[in-house]
Amino acid sequence: MNVGIWVTNGVDALKRVDTALLRNLGFGGVFVACYEDEVRWRVDDVASFVRRAKADGLDPFAVPYGYGRFLDPDPLIESLYVQTHPDACQTDSRGRRLRKACPNNPQFLEWFSSSVRTLAWLLECTGFLWDQPGFHYARGQWSCRCGYCARLFRAGYGHEMPRELTDEVIQFRCNSVTMFTLAAAAAIESVDRRLTSLVMPSPHLSSGQHLTGNEDVQRLASCAGVSGLCVMVPWQELGWDMEHALREAAEGPARVTHACDGVCAVGVNCSPRPEDRTIETIQFAARLGIDAMVMADYTTLIESPAFPLIREPLAEALHAASS
Ligand SMILES: [Zn+2]
Repeated sequence: MNVGIWVTNGVDALKRVDTALLRNLGFGGVFVACYEDEVRWRVDDVASFVRRAKADGLDPFAVPYGYGRFLDPDPLIESLYVQTHPDACQTDSRGRRLRKACPNNPQFLEWFSSSVRTLAWLLECTGFLWDQPGFHYARGQWSCRCGYCARLFRAGYGHEMPRELTDEVIQFRCNSVTMFTLAAAAAIESVDRRLTSLVMPSPHLSSGQHLTGNEDVQRLASCAGVSGLCVMVPWQELGWDMEHALREAAEGPARVTHACDGVCAVGVNCSPRPEDRTIETIQFAARLGIDAMVMADYTTLIESPAFPLIREPLAEALHAASS
């Protein structure tokens, strides 16, 4: 089992990341958050980190954050594109513009493809992770009912888009996310065919329907150019047993991904705190036959004052898992 780690604290924090230590501990990959607004001015710093990680034997993956805020639902991540292109943003079911670009808006799609192509040129990485591409869905409100979506829906289904989130609308949104993912994978492949694309569906944090347009994992996994999925397993937030949550991932999305000849990585929140059971999680995932794991993140795990307490057992577990 390959184990990677997330580095999410922005450009300034990259200097502190000890890539040689990560390699010695037994990590195989590093997932570098590339924030739209930072990349705009400081892409050289990200590129030099990626080169250093690679020289130390790690596989670097770029994780674009911001970028019209269509990827990653974190409301705190800013996007200059959204600020300067309100017309390219999603319209919700009440007719309000959201601070999130619409994947069916051709100007946004063109800007996004060109931005990630540039990123793929500048960063010598192994691949990209597309983090939760999706539409707005909260408290009964959903998107997108912009002019482009309305026209596309009419062309595909032969009638106006309903006001309610019907099965057809749900299907339309899944199609839109799939088309966006296809375009994202094609953009980076046009730079280098060896670049891999992983997609992360939104995690299920509560019971009930979860409809952001990326819920159809089979479609995402079978999307041309997509090598596999990365599925977050937030067992601590769900209040589940770690073993139960990992088994669910292995029997659900991992099985679906394997049927599409893809790989499935699981993402887990880790720290040296005993309640996070970091070592046992690695050991259990390896026993389950999970392909890969991505640990979140460098700050909570390696930079924790308690890290020296688990350094040795962590290295043992990572080496055993990868052998
Ligand atoms: Zn739209």
